[in-house]
Amino acid sequence: MAPINLIGQSRTELIETLAGLGEKPFRAKQLWNWMYHRGERDFGAMINLGKPLREKLLNAAVMELPEVAVEQKSKDGTRKWLLRTADGNEVESVYIPEDDRGALCVSSQVGCTLACTFCHTGTQKLMRNLTAAEIVGQVMVARDAYGEWPSPKSGRMLSNIVLMGMGEPLFNYDNVAKALHIIMDGDGLAISKRRVTLSTSGVVPMIEQVGRELGVGLAISLHAVTDELRDVLVPINRKYPIKELLAACKNYPGASNARRITFEYVMLKGVNDSLSDAKRLAHLLKDIPAKINLIPFNKWPGAQYDCSPAPKIKRFSEILNDLGLSAPIRVPRGRDIMAACGQLKSAGETARRGAAARPSVAEAGSV
Ligand code: SAH
Ligand code: SF4
Repeated sequence: MAPINLIGQSRTELIETLAGLGEKPFRAKQLWNWMYHRGERDFGAMINLGKPLREKLLNAAVMELPEVAVEQKSKDGTRKWLLRTADGNEVESVYIPEDDRGALCVSSQVGCTLACTFCHTGTQKLMRNLTAAEIVGQVMVARDAYGEWPSPKSGRMLSNIVLMGMGEPLFNYDNVAKALHIIMDGDGLAISKRRVTLSTSGVVPMIEQVGRELGVGLAISLHAVTDELRDVLVPINRKYPIKELLAACKNYPGASNARRITFEYVMLKGVNDSLSDAKRLAHLLKDIPAKINLIPFNKWPGAQYDCSPAPKIKRFSEILNDLGLSAPIRVPRGRDIMAACGQLKSAGETARRGAAARPSVAEAGSV
C-alpha cells in the first residue's frame, strides 16, 4: 500500500489516520505540533511519540512537500519557487519581502480555466486543481527557506499569505479551504486570518462562504467599470456581472472600515485608464468598505496590452483619493525573474511556447 501523505490532512483526518494505526487522538495533536509548529519532517526525531509509533509511521506514512525544481531570487529580494508535484505538474509561488515581513503569493491550480485577456496564467489551460497538501506545501517550502521553525510568534519574514498565484481559488474551494484551515491553525503554521487575503476574479456564489467559513481578507480582480469592457478583460463577468459582484462584496461577512475589501485594477493603456473610468470606479464602490490596488500592467511576451504611462496612473490614483478612496499604486516586484503579478506560468509551458519567453535560470540568478 502506498504510504499516506500526512501533510494536508485535516486534524480530523490525522486522528483517523492514527486510529488506523491503533493510536489515540492525542497523538494527532503531538504529530501536528511536530509537523506544523516545528517543521520537523523526520519521524525519527519526534521523540515524544514513542518508538513503536515512530516505526509504524516510518512504514505507513510520509510528510511530502512538492519538490523544488528551481528557486530564483530577484535583484529586489523577491523569491520564486518552481515546484513540481508528484505527478509531474508544475506550479509557482512567489515571496515578496518588505522591510521586516513579507507575503507569500500562493497558487491554487495548475493553470486556470478562465482566460482573462491580460493574464499570462490565463493562456495556460487548466491541468488540475492543487490538493490541500500542495497548497500547504508551498507555505512550508517558503518557511523552510527562511528557517522560521518553530513557528515564531512575532518578527516573521513569512508573515502574510495572498492567494494570488496561478489559478482561481474559488474554483478549487474545498482544497483551498482545507489548506487555509491548516495554515491558519494557531498550534501550527499559525498565520492568522487577518494576514491572509484571497483574490478572486469574481465567483459570486462562493463569496459569502469565504467570509463565513474562512474569514480571510477578500480581494476582487475588478479591472473594469463597465460590463462591456469587463466581459472582455475578465470573461467570468459574462456569468456574474459587476452589479452582482458588488452586491456580494457589500454583503461580505466581516468587511468593515477597519477591514476593507481590496479591488485590484490593472492599468491598461488606453483601455481602462481614463479619468471618467476613475470617477465611475469611485461611484461604483461608494457603498462598500473598499480600497483599491492599482496594478501597473506587467507585460508578458505576446500580450496584446501595454501598461498605462506612470503619470496617467498617478493621476488616476489622485482622482480616486480626491473622491475619498485609498488607491495606492502597487510597485512591481520580481520582474527580472518573471515573478510579478499575472506572469506566473509553469516553466514547461512557457518553454513549449517559445524558449525566448523566459530568461534562463542562470541569467535570472538562481539561488
Ligand atoms: N485568479 C485570481 C487570483 C490570481 S491573479 C484572480 O484573478 O483574482 C492575481 C492578480 O493579478 C489579479 O488581480 C489579476 O487580475 C492580476 N493580474 C493578472 N495578470 C496580470 C498582469 N499581466 N499584470 C498585472 N496584474 C495582473
Ligand atoms: Fe485566472 Fe486570475 Fe489569471 Fe483570470 S487573472 S486568468 S482568473 S489567474
